Amino acid sequence: MKRGELCIKKGSGDICGAECGESYGADNREGIFADNGNLRLRQKTLLLHSCCGPCSTSVVERLARDYDITIFFYNPNITDEGEYRRRLEAQRSFIEIFNSSPTAPARVALVVGTYEPNVFIRACEGHEGDPEGGVRCEICFSLRLAKAAEHASLHGFDCFSTTLSVSPHKDHAAIARIGGRLGMQCGVEFIAEDFKKHNGYARSVELSKAYGLYRQSYCGCEFARGGGRPESGDRSKSGCGRLIK
Ligand code: SF4
Repeated sequence: MKRGELCIKKGSGDICGAECGESYGADNREGIFADNGNLRLRQKTLLLHSCCGPCSTSVVERLARDYDITIFFYNPNITDEGEYRRRLEAQRSFIEIFNSSPTAPARVALVVGTYEPNVFIRACEGHEGDPEGGVRCEICFSLRLAKAAEHASLHGFDCFSTTLSVSPHKDHAAIARIGGRLGMQCGVEFIAEDFKKHNGYARSVELSKAYGLYRQSYCGCEFARGGGRPESGDRSKSGCGRLIK
């Protein structure tokens, strides 16, 4: 709930009536608030940082009934500008397809952050040779989630999250730790769901194929593109994860 709204917790039947400014946990995704004396159902607003269109497909499918979603595309880690444009286009395509579906439970909005690869390159100085999954990746998560937390706070979102955990290559514990810390700093709840669980990654591959989305063959930065992990050859057209045939 936004600060100052009169609220009751979903299903509790217990009117709070205080200007508490508290947010509900992930199991209380909706709220009821007073609108000129009338109680009205309202979904929590979620700023969903997205690493790419393919990873966002299964996350949006999972959350669209429970949250009012705005996708936040901020990815300075994609150091090749042509690649960045292709991924942004895939993100736009997915949102257009999703929003035009008659079965979509809600429309999804898009906010595109500044493309600033130099910020990423500077932040990773000294970690260019780190293996994928090492310190450089934690710096990368922090950069992207810090911008998402800042935007969510500035624009009054109830919570924020990221599609990064869809990938089998991404450390959910690190994402949850970093997102939680930034959420505390910015006063916005971080939804720390591991979106690869419950078939989330396989579903993202399935939906990306069905929608004809561009699926990249490497994570994003020029350092990972050179190889990094020995199994990188398995990642052709895999979104941010390994190809499932
Ligand atoms: S490998 Fe991926 S997560 Fe790690 S620093 Fe590069 S773009 Fe970021």
